[in-house]
Amino acid sequence: MSKIKMNTPLVEMDGDEMTRILWQMIKDELLSPFVELNTEYYDLGLEYRNETDDQVTVDAANATKKYGVAVKCATITPNAARMTEYNLKEMWKSPNGTIRAMLDGTVFRAPIIVKGIEPCVKNWKKPITLARHAYGDVYKNTEMVIPGPGKVELVYTAADGTEQRELVHEFTGAGIAQGMHNLNNSIESFARSCFNYALDTHQDLWFATKDTISKKYDHTFKDIFAEIYEDEYKEKFEAAGITYFYTLIDDAVARVMKAEGGFIWACKNYDGDVMSDMVSSAFGSLAMMTSVLVSPQGYYEYEAAHGTVQRHYYKHLKGEETSTNSVATIFAWSGALRKRGEMDGNKELMDFADSLEAATIETIEHGKMTKDLALITSIENPTVLNSRDFILEIRKELEKKLA
Ligand code: NAP
Ligand code: MG
Repeated sequence: MSKIKMNTPLVEMDGDEMTRILWQMIKDELLSPFVELNTEYYDLGLEYRNETDDQVTVDAANATKKYGVAVKCATITPNAARMTEYNLKEMWKSPNGTIRAMLDGTVFRAPIIVKGIEPCVKNWKKPITLARHAYGDVYKNTEMVIPGPGKVELVYTAADGTEQRELVHEFTGAGIAQGMHNLNNSIESFARSCFNYALDTHQDLWFATKDTISKKYDHTFKDIFAEIYEDEYKEKFEAAGITYFYTLIDDAVARVMKAEGGFIWACKNYDGDVMSDMVSSAFGSLAMMTSVLVSPQGYYEYEAAHGTVQRHYYKHLKGEETSTNSVATIFAWSGALRKRGEMDGNKELMDFADSLEAATIETIEHGKMTKDLALITSIENPTVLNSRDFILEIRKELEKKLA
């Protein structure tokens, strides 16, 4: 069998610990035997980030702008313990934060649905994709403890020195106050990323805020989404047969619980933080979740939603057997390869991505899985496999499909 060719490289960002081990196994067993992998490789492992003063992360993000598609392995975000463990020059920032800031995107997370790993919510039949705005609001706030009686005001000083004031509260006793902000630019790119992703994946888009209470702040989110939809996306949505649906956040939460899934739920920063944890745990596991950063310019970076699985890595180093779930990392690769194929008009590569995903899902549905899934599956007597054997079983399924 001749290998599938790739005309344009995709950006490959290697990572740390257990996921770095899985990364190599996936390449050796599931990709290289079938595809002539054409990647521009960046080593985002902590050692090399430290050696290059984190320049490698910046280079990888710039390469993503050049080639349009990237796949990223989970990476360590250093803390005090990692400073000594890796003898670091500095407590380098989170690579995801650096890349997100450079690409200015929205992160979309969707569960991978498998028969036998049932969502806790009975009527959820299709995935619910969460799109979280990642700038501002309470995450960039300024807070004040108010010790006693007095006046708290919001003051805006324009460039020409003129002032505008709004009374927050006339305090008669002690209390608390908080100021937060957002930027029209950021909300606009959030909206465009969501509309593009809905078109891309052919799903309805839901968006919700508390605009009835927050008549200026939240209402601005609602207005910006509505305006961009009318001006740039309405016709495309109608042609694609999908809808944009705006409602109040409490109404959205109630409807999500009764819905069957199959849509994208765009959330403001705080709502997205809280709701993504609820939705992902209800669907089963972080290792059964796809995650992609979509920039408003149309750059895509695929990753797993979980971390480097440190505990398993330490077992691996001691020579003990691990049963680490590689599904999210496999889907990061299949997502990136499919997008590469789509951008290059490479149907063979797109079909390969479909086969790889189908082989992965069927392996689990045939009762062969890692320990984390064996603990929650409704399949009787599942076969618990170690990290490597699980990947080898997927390879067998994949070979059948490609034969
Ligand atoms: P983690 O890697 O997400 O793992 C936490 C626990 O979740 C594991 O110990 C394991 O539970 C379970 N788990 C996660 N992924 C799994 C998988 N694929 N298969 C089986 N079980 C899985 O979080 P962490 O160990 O707290 O963090 C390790 C490092 O990851 C940190 O340095 C952090 O900075 C980094 N991190 C990176 C990213 C990213 O790059 N996207 C995201 C989050 C965290 P059991 O131990 O019970 O088996
Ligand atoms: Mg959270």
